This record gives sequence, structure tokens and C-alpha cells, in this order.
Amino acid sequence: VTVDDPPGGGPGESDSAPAGSPEALRILSEVFGYDSFRGDQGAIIDHVAGGGDAVVLMPTGGGKSLCYQIPSLLRPGTGIVVSPLIALMADQVAALESLGIRAAFLNSSLDVDEARAVEAAFEAGELDLLYMAPERLVLERTRALLRRGHVSLFAIDEAHCVSQWGHDFRRDYLGLSLLAEEFPQIPRIALTATATRATHEELTERLRMGRARHFVSSFDRPNIQYRIVPKDQARKQLMDFIAGEHSGEAGIVYCLSRKSVDAVAQALDARGIPALPYHAGMDAADRAANQARFLHEDGIVMVATIAFGMGIDKPDVRFVAHLDLPKSIEGYYQETGRAGRDGLAATAWMAYGLGDVVNQRRLIDSGEGSAEFQRSQRAHLDAMLALCETVDCRRVQLLRYFGQESEPCGNCDTCLNPPRTWEATIAAQKLLSALIRLDRERGQQFGSGQVIDVLLGRDNPRSAQSRHEELSVWGVGAELSEKQWRTVIRQLMAADIVAAAGEYNVLVPGPRATGVLRGEEIVHLRDDPEPARASRRSRSASGAGGARASAADGLEGADRELFEALRDWRTETA
Ligand code: ADP
Ligand code: MG
Repeated sequence: VTVDDPPGGGPGESDSAPAGSPEALRILSEVFGYDSFRGDQGAIIDHVAGGGDAVVLMPTGGGKSLCYQIPSLLRPGTGIVVSPLIALMADQVAALESLGIRAAFLNSSLDVDEARAVEAAFEAGELDLLYMAPERLVLERTRALLRRGHVSLFAIDEAHCVSQWGHDFRRDYLGLSLLAEEFPQIPRIALTATATRATHEELTERLRMGRARHFVSSFDRPNIQYRIVPKDQARKQLMDFIAGEHSGEAGIVYCLSRKSVDAVAQALDARGIPALPYHAGMDAADRAANQARFLHEDGIVMVATIAFGMGIDKPDVRFVAHLDLPKSIEGYYQETGRAGRDGLAATAWMAYGLGDVVNQRRLIDSGEGSAEFQRSQRAHLDAMLALCETVDCRRVQLLRYFGQESEPCGNCDTCLNPPRTWEATIAAQKLLSALIRLDRERGQQFGSGQVIDVLLGRDNPRSAQSRHEELSVWGVGAELSEKQWRTVIRQLMAADIVAAAGEYNVLVPGPRATGVLRGEEIVHLRDDPEPARASRRSRSASGAGGARASAADGLEGADRELFEALRDWRTETA
């Protein structure tokens, strides 16, 4: 068992995992039909069954459900399970009932009489487990009901939904903090597959889990092969990938828009790949029917928006493909985590292009929310880009994001086909020393545009502070072009060697800068980091491109527009 330091301070423990008490093991085999616990399950179950609070960070498919289901059976009273997945509650309850467990749910799909019957069963102590949506739990009426009956524990599933900066915020989750005050004697267990430090800290605080023990599992999914290809003709690439490697197998294809979900599903079907669409714009009955076919028939490809997948338990999904860039690594990890839950080899495949970045950026800019919220969304996107652009092992990069160090996996695309790189240690050192000198000699920090001017030894008429000739680093980077410097900066940012800081996104040395400056760390960057092509579609739909950027030389029309939009954005975030 890995027991993390509680992020909010408080007692941490570091003993090793017991295998689960004999009573827990008996229920595991007699009720659920499994012979051993996986990972931390036994320790978590013992802790919660004994009345302790727990925060559980375990990847998708890791087996979080048993962590509250078995303690609910071990303790007298009813386990209350809070979940945002209303559409899945009926299925989950039916599955439990088929195991002989007395389970029910309360949500908006029940009529008044049905809800009354469930409430009466709870009050009479006839339920082991009662599922409900958070908006139901926070009602005074529901809390009064809970006080009249006997609650054995509260399980807060998908607990990352309480995090406002995360990828899946649900307002109703905020109200769950009241459980700590109103039911202080009842154990609570919060579970999520999102394990970034920020989410972990935020959910611990917002759910008032200060006294909880923390169980943090490994996030590695060794059977998943991660691959990210440059997007060219995305649909053709996707069909070649499926036909070539996963013919006749079940998979999920994620697209950003409902329109492309429909179009891609049709295109796959026309190529003889059985595919079904799923998105929130569809009729609920059609959606449910497609989900049921995906779960119960073999070899169906579900083409979906991110509305699909949370809580879906289909073990033999052989691939997850992304035709559009996910908004965050948390989202990417959850979505790709739906592949290979049976432990057999599976592929996480993504096509990534320049247009994705521009689209996402537009979505963030046109979206609602505070400036702080938008900055956090940009930071999420930047981390995602860093994963796309890394020249190192994808798995190492992915796990590092979740705070876990690992060795190169030898199975991802960058391990199997290392991208062409050049040694950029000196360029990185020049950039870093320019940042430090500018700060020291001028007492000022600058965005990437001005830093590049200094490196190139170039006066910039756009800048009020254009007279930098007397700086000791003036012109030290003239061997690279402006365009090359921009790609260097972008990649160094992705590698945490430089970072953007403050309200104006000035460029500062990043967490890994010291090792580079000392020459202890060698920096390799991708040779061809700036895809100079957009899709054919946007080329034919080209508008007038600006003529201002020398860095966009050789690009025309929409390509140039795209390039400039991206460059502008990177300048802003740099
Ligand atoms: P999570 O909620 O973490 O994504 P689930 O609780 O849905 O994962 O479990 C994923 C799958 O693993 C389910 O099919 C479940 O029955 C199975 N499973 C969980 N624990 C065990 C175990 N100890 N032994 C065998 N199968 C297990
Ligand atoms: Mg789950």
C-alpha cells in the first residue's frame, strides 16, 4: 500500500498492506466471486469497515467500487453512495441485486411512489447500499431521512467532481462538505481516478477529509500502449489504424463535437467497421440503446464525445482513439484508461495537429469563468501539449504528471521510434542566462517575444523597452532564427525548463532549470516541432493570411492564419 502524506497536513501512516480481514475476504469470495484483493483494496476496506475516513486515488478499472461496497456489507446500516452517474445507477443496482445484495437508488428517474418505497426500505433497515445523486443528498428532506434511518458510511464516488479547477466539476458536489459537520461520526470514503496533486489537495479540503487516511495507487497501466501521431487526414489515419491493428475489436473513438461524432461513425460504418455514435445531443433512448449494444455485442466501435464513458465497465475495449486533443491530461488519462481493463494489450492512439491547439484555445477564450479559471484551463492544455511534444517516453511523462517517477517503458511510440532530435543544451543555457541577466541587470522579466529580441540582438519597434544593447546577453543567440527560438521555448516550457509566471505570463526559469544551467542535464528537442501543414479542409477554406510574420514564411492562407493564431497564443502564454 502506498500511503501518501495527506496534502492538508495531518497524520500519515506508512505500514504495509494487510490482505484484508477474514470477514472481508469471505464476502469477496462468497458474494462477489473473486479470490483475492487487488492493490490497496484490502487495506482500504479494513480501514473504512473499522470506521476510518479514506481518500482513495486509484486508476480507472482499479476496483474502487468494492472499497465501499464490502465495508457497507460489513457494517450495520446502509452505505450511502453519492455518484454523478445517474444514467448508470439502475445498471449498478441491478448488478448488485443479482449478487443478492440489497441495493436501491434515489434519483430523478423515479416517480414519487417509487421514491417513497425506496425511502421506506431504507428507514426499515432493509438496504445494504443506497445510491443517490449529489443534488438529492444535499436536500434537507433527504438529510432528515438519513437521520431517521441508519447510515453505515458515505461513499463519494468520482470525488474529483468537487474540484473547480479539475476537468469535470459538478456544482452539486460542493454541498457534500456538509456531511462532515452533520454526520461527524459516520465514516466517509472519497474515491477518484484523478490523482494530480492539485485535485488531491482540493478534494481533501473541500470534502473536509482532514482526518482521512490517503491511499494512492500506482497510475501505471502497463498493458496500454500510448501513441500520438501528427494529424494529417485524421479520418483516414483512424480507419487505417483500426483496420490494420484492431479489426473486429471493440474500441472507443473520442471527438470534440457532436457533428464529427456523427460523421466519423458513418464513415467507419461505410468502411465496414461497425460503429455507433454517442453524444448528449442524441435522444436518451437512442443513446441508451447504443450504449447497451456497445456493452453486450462484440467488436463495436463507439464514436463519442466525452459525455460517454465514465463508469462504463467493459473489460475488453482494445483501443481508445482521440481525433481531437483532450483538454487536460486528467481527461486523456481517464479516457484512455477505458482501454484494456482486462489487463490484455490495448492501444491509446491519438492524432494531434496544430488546428487542435487553436480550437482549444478559442474554446477557452470564448468560455465563461474568471481570468484565474481560464489560466488554469490553459495550464491544463499546456501540460497536454507537453505530452504530445515530448521526445521522451510518453509513459514517463504521463506518470510524472501524476507525481510518479518511472523508467522508460519501451512500448510507447517515442520509445519504439525515437523522434529525430538535436542537442539544445547550449540554446537552453543561453535562454536561461538571458532570463537571469535580464532580471538581474534590468530588474525586469519579459515575455518570450522580447526575450527573443534580446537573444537575436534585435531592436523591436513594438516594444517600449527596446534599448537592450548594453545587456551582456545581447545577441548571444543569433545562430537560431526567431522561428527556431519560438519552438525551442515552447518545448523547453513543455519540459519544465522554463515556465510562464505572473499576470503577464513572463518567462522565468522553470523547476528543471538549475540542472541545465550546471550542465548536469542534456536537453534534446524535436527536430521538426512546428508542423507546417493544416488539414486539406482548412486549406481549401482559406481566408486571407496576414503578411507580418517572417516566421510564417513559406506558409499560405489558412496555414498561415493557423500558424499565427498559434504563435500569438504561445507568445501570450510564454
Ligand atoms: P473503478 O471504479 O476503479 O474504475 P470498478 O470498481 O468498476 O473500477 O472495477 C473494475 C472491474 O474490476 C470490475 O469488473 C470489477 O468487478 C473488477 N474487480 C474489482 N476488484 C476485483 C478483484 N479483487 N478481483 C477481480 N476483479 C475485480
Ligand atoms: Mg468507478
